[in-house]
Amino acid sequence: MRNLARSEALFAEALEHIPGGVNSPVRAFRAVGGRPFFVDHAAGARVRDVDGNEYVDYVGTWGPAILGHAHPKIIAAIKAAADHGTSFGIPNPFEVTMAKVIKAAYPSVGKVRMCNSGTEACMSAIRLARGFTKRDKIIKFDGCYHGHADSLLVKAGSGALTFGHPDSAGVPADFARHTLVLPFNDEAAVTATFAANPSVIAAIIVEPVPGNAGLYLPRPGYLEFLSRITAAHGALLIFDEVMTGFRLAFGGAQARFGITPDLSCFGKIIGGGLPVGAFGGRTDIMDYLAPLGPVYQAGTLSGNPLAMAAGLAALEELRATNAHARLETLGAALEAGLSRAAKSAGVPVQFNRCGSMFCGYFTSEPVHNLADAMKSDRERFKKFFHGMLDAGVYLAPSQFEAGFLSTAHTEADLELTVSAAARVMKGL
Ligand SMILES: *Cc1c(COP(=O)(O)O)cnc(C)c1O
Repeated sequence: MRNLARSEALFAEALEHIPGGVNSPVRAFRAVGGRPFFVDHAAGARVRDVDGNEYVDYVGTWGPAILGHAHPKIIAAIKAAADHGTSFGIPNPFEVTMAKVIKAAYPSVGKVRMCNSGTEACMSAIRLARGFTKRDKIIKFDGCYHGHADSLLVKAGSGALTFGHPDSAGVPADFARHTLVLPFNDEAAVTATFAANPSVIAAIIVEPVPGNAGLYLPRPGYLEFLSRITAAHGALLIFDEVMTGFRLAFGGAQARFGITPDLSCFGKIIGGGLPVGAFGGRTDIMDYLAPLGPVYQAGTLSGNPLAMAAGLAALEELRATNAHARLETLGAALEAGLSRAAKSAGVPVQFNRCGSMFCGYFTSEPVHNLADAMKSDRERFKKFFHGMLDAGVYLAPSQFEAGFLSTAHTEADLELTVSAAARVMKGL
């Protein structure tokens, strides 16, 4: 067993002062039981806790650490930027460079605005879509997460054509009413919803490869269908690429699948590990934003020079090292290894993967949407999670989270992971 004395003491203290002891709920390990470890430092693919235990990390700070932790070029960029001052509240040159880099990688983006989190990016893109189309309703898909803004905290409606229920206390039903929640990968549900709600749907917002309920992929033609049907009804298609942007390809899911959304949301990787968000898209839509247009959106720290410098260093390194080819190779190797481990242990696992994102669901049936994902054996996942943690492998503390590879993962890390999984699965 690991020694966790210092983590345990810190968590006990944290519980006195911070709700649930954490500043973001999944960190509390509620879905798997037990208590979180506290990190002392992280470098490359490794995280070390305050008691000195080391883990191969597949959480990667929930996506941003695509180059591994504490990449020297990112750290150097942050230090250099900090020497010039940490925030100005007036334009700095990094913002222009960042906008140009995003535009060059995403041809769907004519203009882009920076903000401070993925939540802000999605919230602002929705407001913009509503202001531009002069319509109130939006479609989202169950299992897709777009941050915690009120009208997006709606997961499960009682039926495809009825009003959504708020997923959180404190969200007025009047807000949730404007959010229509449908199952992912179901074309008929979308068609029926447009037919039942003529000329009132502003936009569809979607994670093109949903990674917030584990990971499942769009069926062939599904994203094309979303693009067609929004255009046919005068609604906008918003790709939430906060997780997939610069990860599934340098040009994100939209490059990987060849789709041109009207608006896109970004975050995570583009901040190099610092707080960031961005949304961008068609110029005629983006020019609806203040100060040019009637849709208000702002931020004291938006375009923050440290975040921009860190993000630019990360994006430059990703491109310069052809990182996505390497991530694809690592992803395929991990998939093969973990699938083999599950098979030899006789444990039914659906291993879903797209590039460097993955999820192993403990179920014998394929997973294409949230309902399929819910069939997985979460008790089994809990045991697996803790077994892996004891073996020095840190997976996300929930069956319904994606895993992330970084360019810092080595073949040796994968071997350690696969042999640990083979051992742990035999005991499930
Ligand atoms: C993480 C995430 C968000 C929210 O971003 P925050 O920076 O945590 O606010 C939104 N959408 C998707 C797809 C995400 O993965």
